[in-house]
Amino acid sequence: MNKFEQLGLNESLLKAILDLGFENPSEVQEKAIPLLLEKDTDMVALAQTGTGKTAAFGFPLIQKIDADNRNTQALVLSPTRELCLQITNELKNYSKYEKGINVVAVYGGASITEQAREIKRGAQIIVATPGRMQDMINRGLVNIKNIDYCILDEADEMLNMGFYDDIVSILSDTPDEKSTWLFSATMPQEVARIAKQFMSDPLEITVGTKNSGSSTVSHEFYLVNARDRYEALKRLADANPDIFSVVFCRTKRDTQAIAEKLIEDGYSAAALHGDLSQAQRDGVMKSFRGRQIQMLVATDVAARGIDVDNVTHVVNYQLPDEIETYNHRSGRTGRAGKLGTSIVIVTKSELRKISSIERIIKQKFEEKTIPSGIEICEIQLLHLANKIKDTEVDHEIDNYLPAINNVLEDLSKEELIKKMVSVEFNRFITYYKKNRDISTQSSGERRERGDSEPREFNNNGAVRYFVNIGSRDNFDWMSLKDYLKETLDLGRDDVFKVDVKEGFSFFNTDPEHTDKVMDILNNVQLEGRRINVEISKNDGGGRRDHNNRGGGRNSGGPRREGNFAPRREGSGGGFRSDRNSAPRREGSGGGFRSDRNSAPREGGFRRNEGSSDRAPRRSESFGDSPRPRRPRRD
Ligand code: ADP
Ligand code: MG
Repeated sequence: MNKFEQLGLNESLLKAILDLGFENPSEVQEKAIPLLLEKDTDMVALAQTGTGKTAAFGFPLIQKIDADNRNTQALVLSPTRELCLQITNELKNYSKYEKGINVVAVYGGASITEQAREIKRGAQIIVATPGRMQDMINRGLVNIKNIDYCILDEADEMLNMGFYDDIVSILSDTPDEKSTWLFSATMPQEVARIAKQFMSDPLEITVGTKNSGSSTVSHEFYLVNARDRYEALKRLADANPDIFSVVFCRTKRDTQAIAEKLIEDGYSAAALHGDLSQAQRDGVMKSFRGRQIQMLVATDVAARGIDVDNVTHVVNYQLPDEIETYNHRSGRTGRAGKLGTSIVIVTKSELRKISSIERIIKQKFEEKTIPSGIEICEIQLLHLANKIKDTEVDHEIDNYLPAINNVLEDLSKEELIKKMVSVEFNRFITYYKKNRDISTQSSGERRERGDSEPREFNNNGAVRYFVNIGSRDNFDWMSLKDYLKETLDLGRDDVFKVDVKEGFSFFNTDPEHTDKVMDILNNVQLEGRRINVEISKNDGGGRRDHNNRGGGRNSGGPRREGNFAPRREGSGGGFRSDRNSAPRREGSGGGFRSDRNSAPREGGFRRNEGSSDRAPRRSESFGDSPRPRRPRRD
């Protein structure tokens, strides 16, 4: 007798389980299934993510549903649309040999009338997100007054996302004598409150020990030149399209500045620090929890104790002054049994701090190199392909298809794919063609990537500038070079071909510094006189690459386009989620979850969570040291 059979599951389920390829029940399944099959009872089951909770309630649920009765008998509430679809799909798989069971998914961002119609046809099980469910109840499109089972899946997550009121209201629309099963990875107070309020004598199951955190966090460092810190951050974000991270800076000022830069460059970021009002901070945290923000840039004080599930990365943009603080930082990820990565962007002079931290955390760091432009392009391309594949089609689109088909009808499938993917890809390619490789290794040598990287990526065309200061201002080429380096916070060799005339001068930088040069230099004064810098029309010997640059601050990199969602201006610390700003509550429009196609990162069967995506926009690097009189943006 196989293990699932021993749990009391029937023939048709065993057959389905065979198809699923599950060999042995997981611990939570082993504990929950027999209890749920045996009697009608309330249950609270706590088990970490990825431990097979869906089947733990799904198998007994399918077995208990009366397939001959077309009325709605069970409601499963889940936090996001992705999860809702995922659970629906699983339940359909479990019940495929059980004739007559219908499972319907109800979630926002899709036609409500279509969903209502499906329910009308007879759905014994409804899997819903709370927001849409509430909507359907209000419109009288669904009847859950006679259900026998109500399942709250990922209850902690639902409450995190602010669904408390919806859940309470939905539950009060269900009969008292039903069974309620609550599944959750953690048991915060709000979950306990729901359990207390809506369950009677629930059986309790806990699987695994409370996670200490540390064993689920891996530590990595990336060695870069100080001036490449910001660029490195962007690349790490681009190389992890699903990143959901807390980025730590040392000071409030840096925190604000980095967040602003990221927002400007099109990332969904926000700052969290003590200079914000409580209301602003609450707003930022709410958006972060709701995944409208992918990169929360924070000071240590402001981020202390932040408890947000599923943070994929902690980024130490700068190491903390006190290395003990590192532990507090890295503990923001790897929570509730999830895996997390703590990244340190480090310069050569800080390298020895890494060893000190290793001693404190009793774990080793892995040294990694910042991905090259071509690697990032590959990652983004695959991510896009997967995203297209996984995109749910909203039938609203049907109305527009005739016109669209008209435009595209002459393209073959191959051409169409190429073009579609290029819409996104071109931006990355164009951006990274212009940007050199910034990886460095602690062995000291600059990593050579020439072999693996197409030549275009090593473009060294420089930009030549005209600036209205010269020997009349007591500069010679050396002192002007020094002045520019210092004012712009650039490295030794970043300013070159400095040519000083009486009332003006010329100099070169790599194109990636152009925005910075234009931004900063045009806003500083020299002895009361405004400095004026322009991109030189006269090549002056420097190979230029500035055809597209008007010199304005937004003329930089490939800003993300193809974003149909209305732009959302952030409250508080300000954030702008360039792409996924559509209604988030239901997890539509880029809600964050379940990337099932991606490989599990560690043994066991784990789901990768998180989604939404990212693109680089501008080339600009950002030093870490006291920044020169950087003009505040208005
Ligand atoms: P949770 O809800 O606890 O986060 P899921 O129910 O989403 O976890 O399950 C995570 C993954 O494990 C899914 O891909 C699921 O198909 C798989 N899985 C579940 N139970 C088993 C099992 N008994 N054996 C093998 N894989 C399983
Ligand atoms: Mg689950």
